[in-house]
Amino acid sequence: MKKALITGITGQDGSYLAELLLEKGYEVHGIIRRCSTFNTQRIDHLYTDPHINGTKMFLHYGDLADGVMLMKLLYQIQPDEIYHLGAQSHVRVSFDVPEYTGDVTGLGTLRLLEAIREVGLDGKCRFYQASSSEMFGMVQQVPQTEKTPFYPRSPYGCAKVYAYWLTVNYRESYGMHATNGILFNHESPRRGETFVTRKITRAATRIKLGLQDKLYLGNLDAQRDWGYAKEYVEAMWLMLQQDEGDDYVMATNETNSVKDFVIETFNLLDLDWEKYVDYDKRYERPTEVDLLIGDPAKAKKQLGWEPKVKFKDLVKIMVDSDLVLAKQELAYKQATNG
Ligand code: NDP
Ligand code: GDP
Repeated sequence: MKKALITGITGQDGSYLAELLLEKGYEVHGIIRRCSTFNTQRIDHLYTDPHINGTKMFLHYGDLADGVMLMKLLYQIQPDEIYHLGAQSHVRVSFDVPEYTGDVTGLGTLRLLEAIREVGLDGKCRFYQASSSEMFGMVQQVPQTEKTPFYPRSPYGCAKVYAYWLTVNYRESYGMHATNGILFNHESPRRGETFVTRKITRAATRIKLGLQDKLYLGNLDAQRDWGYAKEYVEAMWLMLQQDEGDDYVMATNETNSVKDFVIETFNLLDLDWEKYVDYDKRYERPTEVDLLIGDPAKAKKQLGWEPKVKFKDLVKIMVDSDLVLAKQELAYKQATNG
């Protein structure tokens, strides 16, 4: 039975990946952070009591800021594959906490790579780095490919560029099976509620049921290549099944603006978006990434991976799911006279 370690298992991608690996028969280990409130909602349905025989998922406390603990954990688990998804992953927030973002998103990757070497796993353990289209930043060429130069536009983007090159460097220096998945934005009903897509579908469905009056957004003109997270984690797995480590772009090759996302969402709910959406400067970034559109040709050719869910299907999946949540919230409110 193969063993996988996932950093960021409580996040959107970590939860889908844990599901996928369990389905494939892996023993799955995940690092979780100690938190004053529960932060495991996305993986609670996968959890079984470790006292019961047959449990395949194990959670360990830790933090990417703690290199000693990473080393101890690798020594104890001896994973065959490491999926490094943990990060301070919010671009806007990275302007507020740049040093923390550099530490966790950038140096955290270095700590993990060094721990792999120190424990002597560099010859046998495969490593996946969650690289990001944010590394492309300022538009240099479209569509973006594995060969497009980086020009990051945020502390988050800079930290991911550092982690990207570390992954390449450890592959070249030590012969590690280390791979960068350069993933363009990918969303789902499990997307964090402060990312723009989920913020829009949550708000619009609540507006539809009279639970909210307004939706405040920043720049509506930015264009993103939005895919479906559930499909993107399959690509992560495929990347680690290749004979050699490499770098791959994962994208849909379609781009839409934030405004397009708003219009599609409100149309699905039969609402006039202009009545409800207002501008708030707070959501602007000091420097913006204007246009992302990725070319996944290499992934298609080498991995046989191709995204099936495109923009309109994705918006519908998210709206349908958030409508259920909004209905539950309304029912609870009515039952409690809230
Ligand atoms: P999420 O924000 O949903 O999840 C981030 C995960 O990282 C959470 O499990 C979080 O734990 C964990 N984490 C944060 N800080 C630390 C820390 N100090 N130590 C250990 N773990 C930590 O991100 P996604 O699932 O959407 O993305 C997964 C990865 O892919 C990230 O690295 C992201 O930057 C990258 N990426 C994402 C894209 C996207 O569109 N979703 C696009 C390209 C790259 P907790 O739950 O406790 O906060
Ligand atoms: P990002 O591409 O990783 O930064 O993903 P986000 O979902 O956070 O943002 C996507 C785009 O939406 C960016 O260009 C933002 O500037 C834009 N945007 C506009 N309004 C908002 C908002 O209220 N919240 C967020 N998160 N982004 C917004």
